[in-house]
Amino acid sequence: MKHMTLSEIADACCGIYCGDPAFLDCEVSSVAIDSRKVVKDTLFVAIKGARVDGHNFIPQVMEAGALCSLSEQDLGDVDYPYIRVSSCTEALKDLAEHYRRSLDIKVVGITGSVGKTSTKEMIASVLSEKYNVLKTEGNFNNEIGLPLTVFNIREEHEVAVLEMGISHFGDMKPLAKIARPDVCVITNIGYAHLENLGTRDGILKEKSSMTDYMNPKGSVIFNGDDDKLKSYTSRDGRTPVYFGLTASCPFHVENIERKGLKGTYAEFVTPTSRFHAHISIPGDHMIYNALAGVAVGYALGMDNEEIARGIEKLVPIAGRNNLIEAKHYTIIDDCYNANPASMKSSLDVLAYADTRKVAILGDMGELGADELAMHREVGAYAAFKNTDVLVCIGALSKDMAEAAKETVLATEKNMKVFHFDTKEDFYQNMGQILKENDTILVKASHFMEFPEIVKKLSEEA
Ligand code: ATP
Ligand code: MG
Repeated sequence: MKHMTLSEIADACCGIYCGDPAFLDCEVSSVAIDSRKVVKDTLFVAIKGARVDGHNFIPQVMEAGALCSLSEQDLGDVDYPYIRVSSCTEALKDLAEHYRRSLDIKVVGITGSVGKTSTKEMIASVLSEKYNVLKTEGNFNNEIGLPLTVFNIREEHEVAVLEMGISHFGDMKPLAKIARPDVCVITNIGYAHLENLGTRDGILKEKSSMTDYMNPKGSVIFNGDDDKLKSYTSRDGRTPVYFGLTASCPFHVENIERKGLKGTYAEFVTPTSRFHAHISIPGDHMIYNALAGVAVGYALGMDNEEIARGIEKLVPIAGRNNLIEAKHYTIIDDCYNANPASMKSSLDVLAYADTRKVAILGDMGELGADELAMHREVGAYAAFKNTDVLVCIGALSKDMAEAAKETVLATEKNMKVFHFDTKEDFYQNMGQILKENDTILVKASHFMEFPEIVKKLSEEA
């Protein structure tokens, strides 16, 4: 990160500097909330977590070379400097906001119900063909993760691609205030966090408030095939630029060639030109993510060759539609997380397989009052997509299995349906269920810990 002095930090987070004034002009070289990440001249921020309180680590991190800590507590007569603040989380955000404002960089902010990380990776891959890009690592998208990402931006970076995740009303504003995006991207308005945000209109309102803090000359880039985003009218008269499969979207695709699990070839159409590119990750949702990449690349002045190269260089990451050719099976490892929209996207991908298609699906969390209906919807969808075998695991997935069975009966599909309460129950029966050469989708919400299944299937001798 660009260095900051302790006096600048104390000012930015309205803190009280406690310690030898001689250190006020010393500069911190990084910011950490994890004591294990502390190196020489780090600013350590003592966050009180559910299990551990960062304040307990202050003596240890100072010993390890930290320059200073942010603390909510009076540390008494210690022989190292610290900055007293009323809330370390708020101070972290204030400091990130100050740091972001000090940087001459373009920021692309990405939010949406589903596909933020995947779209972030695609956009970063595209932009990296022309710019020095810093992107959110993994899923660091909340009020802690976003500030930490911002501190990773260095002066040589030209663009930062930042994922922003929300789950309650009021979550977006502080994130947008930190990021101050030049480009705002929304992937879709789905059903995640309905229990907190009430309706899809509530979700739209909260997510689109990202634009409240954006560069007035910046671009708003929305999925035009999403009914809520399509009918969006901004409070400040800003008109979104739309991308989608629909030809009326200024950024769309034509001549799509779906090559099964090997991805998709398509002709990308921009307002001024067209070009071909191959998306190596299968599924129509990846076409959307690539289109978002095209629209952002276009907004930031890239040419078609650069954009196409960036799309083609993106390869799957663990847990997200990652194709694993194991000894006995082809595994689609998509078990990083799940909700109804992404379950359906992944069943779409599975449908491209040219062998027997098996879906091992588990419970989806955080869906609110309609959770059982949503599990049922996924079960029915698996049947409609001509899945050969559906294995449902978990308490909520019992309804998924039941709806799947009902759909099979009603539609005369051939899908075999199984339900197990636990992964262990499945392991005991999997010898009878799975066959050599099956293509197997593995997917559930994070808490179900399905990477274990992927490991087991991959390592089967
Ligand atoms: P989180 O809220 O956990 O951060 P996210 O919004 O970052 O999730 P991803 O991790 O990118 O979402 O993707 C989650 C799932 O959705 C994956 O299974 C992925 O295959 C699927 N997916 C990716 N992009 C899209 C999209 N544009 N539309 C629908 N599903 C998508
Ligand atoms: Mg994410």
